[in-house]
Amino acid sequence: MVLSKDPSLTLPSDQNSSGRTLGDEELALLTKVIQSGTLTGTKGTFVKQLEHDFAQLLGVKHAYACTSGSGAIHVAIAAIDPEPGDEIITTSITDMGALTPILYQGAIPVFADVDPKTWNVTAETIAPKITERTKGIIVTHLFGNPCNMTEIMELAKAHNIPVIEDAAQALLATHNGQNIGSIGDIGCFSLQQGKHITTGEGGLITTNNDAFARRTFLAINKAWGYGDPKPDHYFLALNYRMSELQGAVATAQLTKLTDIVNRRRTTANQLTEKIKDIPGIATPKIDPRNLHSYWKYCLSVDSNLVEGGAVGLAKALKEEKGIFSAPRYIQKPAFQCEIFREQRTFGKSRFPFTLASPEAVDYNPDQYPGTFAGLESVLVLPWNENYTDEHVDYIAQAIKQVLS
Ligand SMILES: *Cc1c(COP(=O)(O)O)cnc(C)c1O
Repeated sequence: MVLSKDPSLTLPSDQNSSGRTLGDEELALLTKVIQSGTLTGTKGTFVKQLEHDFAQLLGVKHAYACTSGSGAIHVAIAAIDPEPGDEIITTSITDMGALTPILYQGAIPVFADVDPKTWNVTAETIAPKITERTKGIIVTHLFGNPCNMTEIMELAKAHNIPVIEDAAQALLATHNGQNIGSIGDIGCFSLQQGKHITTGEGGLITTNNDAFARRTFLAINKAWGYGDPKPDHYFLALNYRMSELQGAVATAQLTKLTDIVNRRRTTANQLTEKIKDIPGIATPKIDPRNLHSYWKYCLSVDSNLVEGGAVGLAKALKEEKGIFSAPRYIQKPAFQCEIFREQRTFGKSRFPFTLASPEAVDYNPDQYPGTFAGLESVLVLPWNENYTDEHVDYIAQAIKQVLS
């Protein structure tokens, strides 16, 4: 295959059919839903099927579908049910949809630093943030590279704190052979356009804990006790239900997931082989106990050896080779966004920040050396299952030429 002068035009994209796996299987199930006339998951069969299939695939007792990854995180926090002002430890490098739900549930996000080489939180960075008000820990498996869950679960168990795994980027990644999202107390997933499989928008929640499962179900359903002898709206909760239309698409997508992740892994490993000895860049750092699922392929760029660092490399790849990449991933650590800097929440109240201890909202950069170093060095290459050997060759050659 010959790539055009501007190969960015030919690299498959997860924003359209070129980099997605949507096809006849999804259409067939969608047709069934439309013909049935039942579009709500409360009465239909597809959302239930999806929940069943996903629980089986992940190897967990319970799975629930919902409207988004952000919704999944909100529901997971509602399941833990913190008191207003309680603290949830999270990461300074993640999607905002993993953070705002903490505030909506009246709790305080407390940011742990990250390992600058994996961009993930670790037991070492979480430990100093634990206080008697910590009611949960959310770990994001960033870019599909698993956090070291053994150490994190040991730490959390020693303090009796539940762990939520934000596995939105890490479908079928593993730690010690166990699927990511099945190791912590609750797992959260996203089916947004750019994730491994998609329904446009959508989310999933997993747990092995019956009590969390019950509260998860209720938190998705306005806390209405479907099926109870005397159902009521038991507590404050929204409607986060997935529709049958999404359920049908997701059910079909799920059958393709193992192959999708395998293909991403194969091409990512090919790229690693081709570029691993180039000075100035480091290929993904993966703990030997972990399997990466390559939501993205990230390089760590050494600005002492590469002119302009990650920004310079991105610019050269774009201008000389037509390859798009994203230096920094997010422009700044989450805690430097206005919502946290200015505490803009409900009216002028600043709630729930008004309940926070000074330490919980101390965003002094000195506390976050790994975060700043990590954002400075990261270069995110888009990735998807439709990358071929030729695409990988082209990217590898481009990186080599630009850096030589
Ligand atoms: C995408 C993503 C979310 C949010 O999911 P949405 O479906 O976009 O709401 C949360 N956390 C992480 C790590 C994500 O990548």
